[in-house]
Amino acid sequence: MRLCRFDNNRLGVVEDGHVRDVTAALDVLPAYRYPLPPGDMLIANLDAVAARVRAIAKDSPLVPIDRVALLSPVANPGKIIGAPMNYDTGQDQAAIANAMSIGLFLKANGSLSGPSEGIMLRMMERQIDHEVELGVVIGREGANIPRADALTYVAGYAVALDITPHGKEERSLRKSCATYSVLGPWLVTADEVPDPTDLDLQLQVNGEVRQQGNTKQMLRGVAALIEYASSFYTLYPGDIFLSGTPAGVGPMRPGDRLVATIESVGTMTVDVRATKTN
Ligand code: MN
Repeated sequence: MRLCRFDNNRLGVVEDGHVRDVTAALDVLPAYRYPLPPGDMLIANLDAVAARVRAIAKDSPLVPIDRVALLSPVANPGKIIGAPMNYDTGQDQAAIANAMSIGLFLKANGSLSGPSEGIMLRMMERQIDHEVELGVVIGREGANIPRADALTYVAGYAVALDITPHGKEERSLRKSCATYSVLGPWLVTADEVPDPTDLDLQLQVNGEVRQQGNTKQMLRGVAALIEYASSFYTLYPGDIFLSGTPAGVGPMRPGDRLVATIESVGTMTVDVRATKTN
């Protein structure tokens, strides 16, 4: 199932270029009181919501997908986890060992954006790079998750962009500007992606292919990332992994149009603009 969030926080199921408006399926979510449980409530209740979506989809209004504004399919992640230098790009063994030793980093939740919101660049004196990545959305709470069980913790996958300004600051600061983590165009539930370790991914900028790779080049694959991350972090429903980027990282300018595609997941179009306030 391909679930999207669109327009004014409506829920959609994507079918052949159309969106079925299944917002009514959100009625199965429990009524919460303060304090809210950790994580994203839609993802935490995904099985129940998906069952309701299946029940009501055929009687739900159909809208062409190019007429809706697509938002991040995860509204309220508990955290966004980045994997620096996680692809084999032909570097030597010492460089690989160094990359693995750096571990992971967190991006501020406020950096999350959807394809219709685009990327708003700031600090334009810096070089700011695009990174296309497989987005992995965690479905249930876990800590110290063994690699063999790790994929059972995945709710689904999405296309992600990890926007990366150059600079000496910690990654967690530089990469946390608003709109610097783009997720979309929808969430593909994990049952539709049985093997995340062999997916082609590509990024075009203004029609030119800039990045091309396959998730089999990941140094820590999806299951290894979950195992490693959960040896430090407790994972919650809606946590997002940005799982690393293949070769071809390069700069963006206002006015650029990014088209990011991941096999079995989808294609997301994102426009780049300059922030008006600085
Ligand atoms: Mn990255």
